[in-house]
Amino acid sequence: MSSDPVERTLDDVARRLSDAERILFVTGAGLSADSGLPTYRGVGGLYEDRDTDDGVPIEVALSGSMFAIRPDLTWRYLWEIGASCAGAEPNDAHGFIARLTRERPESWVLTQNVDGLHRRADTRNLVELHGHAFDLLCSRCGREQDTAGLINGYSGAPPDLPPRCECGGVVRPDVVLFEEALPAKAVEALDRLESMRFDVVLAVGTSAMFGYVVRPITRASAAGVPTVEINPGTTDLTNFVRFRLPVPASEAARRLAARLWPE
Ligand code: NAD
Repeated sequence: MSSDPVERTLDDVARRLSDAERILFVTGAGLSADSGLPTYRGVGGLYEDRDTDDGVPIEVALSGSMFAIRPDLTWRYLWEIGASCAGAEPNDAHGFIARLTRERPESWVLTQNVDGLHRRADTRNLVELHGHAFDLLCSRCGREQDTAGLINGYSGAPPDLPPRCECGGVVRPDVVLFEEALPAKAVEALDRLESMRFDVVLAVGTSAMFGYVVRPITRASAAGVPTVEINPGTTDLTNFVRFRLPVPASEAARRLAARLWPE
């Protein structure tokens, strides 16, 4: 047996995953960090120790109330996310999760990410709780907008922000801003997942700021279901989980994949 505690935990987690039929992954920005997308909080977080250049915390800049009064300011940070997503590719962790959802069809992914990388990795049973940065709509008339035409798919120099609809209304991405309620379809998906029983639950790359993200982990833990946190930093979940892998998500994925699917 290895004397390295991470190796031993990888062996344990790989065993649980290979025996599991129903796996739940709860993912956050840290999963996409290895695709070059910055996180907000925790290890490598853009705003871990500082406010935005506009002098407010990122959670205020990207809030529903700020968008209502200063959509130009909110859009500066929406653009930051969109532009980094535009050139990004799914990494080994997206691929690992996607393969497990295809091989174990009763497995689910609950993500807070708005970057669309889970979709692009061909993930099944995906719930995008906070929406998708590339779906744009008018905040006045609700009409869907052409992301490529209106803002050039977040590529190149930012246009005049905020972008406007033909009706004059401010356009926004179909994402959940801080302070905003989850859309009904996300609440329904959470309720559905709550009624399911999983064999293993993993939190990957999330600082776990939202109750609805923490709950599936703490509930599983209380029911004796093995829980895993993959995060090079610590979070409020760290003390709840049975297994902790303090390494970047893509590295954990490669090392787990080598155990689950040896060549
Ligand atoms: P967060 O920025 O609050 O936390 C990221 C977490 O990931 C931290 O705990 C950090 O230690 C960890 N981390 C950093 N590098 C990692 C790596 N290589 N592997 C694994 N973990 C790593 O992100 P959150 O918890 O998702 O919440 C932030 C909110 O901001 C969410 O609502 C999300 O929609 C939004 N957001 C999304 C994106 C995206 O779509 N990629 C990016 C930034 C923020």
